[in-house]
Amino acid sequence: MLGAIVSLLLVVAAAYAVTQVGGVITLLFIAAVLFLAYRRLSLLAFTTTFTVLLAAYTVLGAGGAPAGIWKGFLWLLLAGLWLLNVRPLRKQLITRPFMKTYLKLLPTMSQTEKEALDAGTVWWDGELFTGAPRWSKLLSAKAPKLSAAEAAFLGGLEFSAYAHSCVLAKISSRSATTSSTVAVPNSLGPAELLNHYGTEEQKSYYLPRLARGEEVPCFALTGPRAGSDASSIPDTGVVCRGTWQGREIIGLKLNFSKRYITLAPVATVIGLAFRMFDPEKLLGGKTDIGITCALIPRNTPGVTIGRRHFPLNVPFQNGPIQGRDVFVPLDFIIGGSKMAGSGWRMLVEQLSVGRCISLPSNATGAAKAAVWATGAYARIRSQFNTPVGRFEGVEAVIARMAGLTYIMDAARSVTAGAIDGGEKPSVPSAMLKYHVTEMGRQVANDAMDVHGGKGICLGPRNYLGRGYQIVPVAITVEGANLLTRNLIIFGQGAVRCHPFVLREMAAARNPDRAAGVEEFDGALFAHICFSISNAVRSFIMALTHARFTRAPVEGPTARYYQHIVRFSASFAFAVDVAMLALGGYLKKKESLSARLGDVLSCMYLASMVLKHHENQGRLEEDLPIVEWACRSLLYHAQEQLHGFLRNFGNRLLALAMRALIFPRGRVYSAPDDRLGHKLAGLVINPTEARERLSQYIYWTLEPTNPLGLLQEALLLAVQLEPLEKRIRVEGVKTGKVTALDPPGRIQQALAAGIVSETEAAALREYDRKVMELIHVDDFDPRELGALAAATPESAARSSAHVA
Ligand SMILES: Cc1cc2nc3c(=O)[nH]c(=O)nc-3n(C[C@H](O)[C@H](O)[C@H](O)COP(=O)(O)OP(=O)(O)OC[C@H]3O[C@@H](n4cnc5c(N)ncnc54)[C@H](O)[C@@H]3O)c2cc1C
Repeated sequence: MLGAIVSLLLVVAAAYAVTQVGGVITLLFIAAVLFLAYRRLSLLAFTTTFTVLLAAYTVLGAGGAPAGIWKGFLWLLLAGLWLLNVRPLRKQLITRPFMKTYLKLLPTMSQTEKEALDAGTVWWDGELFTGAPRWSKLLSAKAPKLSAAEAAFLGGLEFSAYAHSCVLAKISSRSATTSSTVAVPNSLGPAELLNHYGTEEQKSYYLPRLARGEEVPCFALTGPRAGSDASSIPDTGVVCRGTWQGREIIGLKLNFSKRYITLAPVATVIGLAFRMFDPEKLLGGKTDIGITCALIPRNTPGVTIGRRHFPLNVPFQNGPIQGRDVFVPLDFIIGGSKMAGSGWRMLVEQLSVGRCISLPSNATGAAKAAVWATGAYARIRSQFNTPVGRFEGVEAVIARMAGLTYIMDAARSVTAGAIDGGEKPSVPSAMLKYHVTEMGRQVANDAMDVHGGKGICLGPRNYLGRGYQIVPVAITVEGANLLTRNLIIFGQGAVRCHPFVLREMAAARNPDRAAGVEEFDGALFAHICFSISNAVRSFIMALTHARFTRAPVEGPTARYYQHIVRFSASFAFAVDVAMLALGGYLKKKESLSARLGDVLSCMYLASMVLKHHENQGRLEEDLPIVEWACRSLLYHAQEQLHGFLRNFGNRLLALAMRALIFPRGRVYSAPDDRLGHKLAGLVINPTEARERLSQYIYWTLEPTNPLGLLQEALLLAVQLEPLEKRIRVEGVKTGKVTALDPPGRIQQALAAGIVSETEAAALREYDRKVMELIHVDDFDPRELGALAAATPESAARSSAHVA
């Protein structure tokens, strides 16, 4: 509100000033200068054009005292601009002193943080930091497609990242326990590390055995003292002499304590992360070598393994591992001795790929299954004589489930396509990890609400409860979500994706001072022009609601491209102001940086939605879902930018930013109820959009598969709806049909000649199937007593077919 008032005052003041200094010509002059800034000219090009414009304006503009003062000010400004173009002068007067302050503002960075920052590549995330993203980069990327073999198998044979993701999504639509079990050996585990960094010997021994399932891997990083701050592991590997298979060799003595390790209880080989030391300098180099990864066979003397944790009553294999004075040869280090100390780099490099695939795919598969089941259930379950999915309140929830699932699927598949194109997108991997698993959590909650008691009572007939229980695991692993949102997404993005910050940091830290000043000067002034341009772009696009911004496509989605460009400019401007005002302290202001991270993520996810829609051939039927998804994301981006400004410490700067970012206030609105109604209709009916949304889930019709049975019932519901209507109109309303339950009604309708014998049989069969699906399990109290005392094994037995 305050920002809008300030903007209004500014506009009134400007209008008044303009009338005082010569009306239309002045307006034209200001518009031309703003246009130059909007088009982002270089400093020299801007100054030259500004000179020409100012000369013309001086000749053509009005005379008089106010106009004279105003023009004098502009000529002074121009002189300042020309001085800024004299590099030696500006280096001396501005760059050198600023560089000193800048160095003080820079956050301190440990080696592990540097390695994390350097890992992976910058992809579409980098474009979103520019304020003027080049859509051709995203839209020209090849749509990910399954090969014929991949499509037929939907399962390790040099599959693409996209196929890998589809396989996990499909498994997860049936069993979260199985999909976590499959994900670990195929993601950030020993196989991935060996593939990239292993010696030839290690690869030829382990890879075939891992691929055939003869070795079961796990990867042990986390311990009781190092969870989120994983680089602080206290586990050690000390270089020393020892005896290995009867020979004295130089090896490593390992002492470690790890917990929460997935597959550990059944693993045959442990990927172990520890800190390596060489106190006696037996290897000749440093004493503190750094984090190192090695492969330790399970049966190595000193290793204690096999006990299990019991994660939320879900029976997947997870447990602690300890090692006491475990002696192994240096050859056990992944990549051999030359990779000693490179463990953290290896982990973060591979994380950027694995984190894009495993958890996002599992969460998406589960969401697809949930929306598939919920859409059908809401159609076949009636209350108040109406399918529950037709009540507005339920529709809104189903619409959210469908919209979020579309976003998750788009983000997963388009980003997997980028990996197949050679990217290792580290910032998007954090965005996907956080947002896709959080959306999965929302979808799981919504599915439970729509199913009511059916979702709550555990037992073989409950197809939701176990998936709901396991949700916090996805939230916690591979970078717990609070940490990922508050520290990683923006913290990494701001440095990695920003077009100038990394260059400026490198220049400021350059030990060759002269070269550093030269590089810093170039980056700094380009950065200043960039920020001014973003401020102007943000203001103009906010005023015009981005109506005149160029979009790469025509049609109903064009507006979303325009709004993303607008938010990109506002975001880039806000980021620069925040970094300038707070410097390294921004890292500690987690709530501010998390909001900026949310804005970045919303723009990224909305771009993924648009690209996915293009990849799927711009299907008109999907438009309500695409619109809901983009609108929700951009609305959230707006609200998070507002939250950022509301909490920004320097109120004066916040006010100035608000005037340039929200000159008309927050005018972007969330999806409306009409759109939600359309979306729900796509999901509670057997539409092609519903099938596309849940593509690749396991919905084969078989007696033990609820997803197949629900679809069968949904098809019958639609097919038999005219008969039910006939009974209502010709039977219930005329008093010929008075029974309260469907079997009685069918019987009376048959007797009254309203339906034929065949039609009555079809209706009875449908009612039987519906009752089968809405039934829940009950147990003898003694059975429940046994469950209460459950070990993981007994819980596994009781829940294997529903997990
Ligand atoms: C089921 C399961 C399977 C797992 N599998 C493996 C495995 O196979 N291998 C392996 O090595 N590890 C594994 N983990 C460990 C997992 O990666 C860690 O649990 C995770 O890193 C968080 O550590 P923590 O549980 O000790 O939480 P803590 O580090 O104690 O954190 C507690 C909370 O504080 C938040 N937090 C911490 N620091 C910050 C910050 N700076 N800003 C904001 N929030 C912050 C965290 O996000 C979290 O919400 C597994 C864990 C589970 C539960």
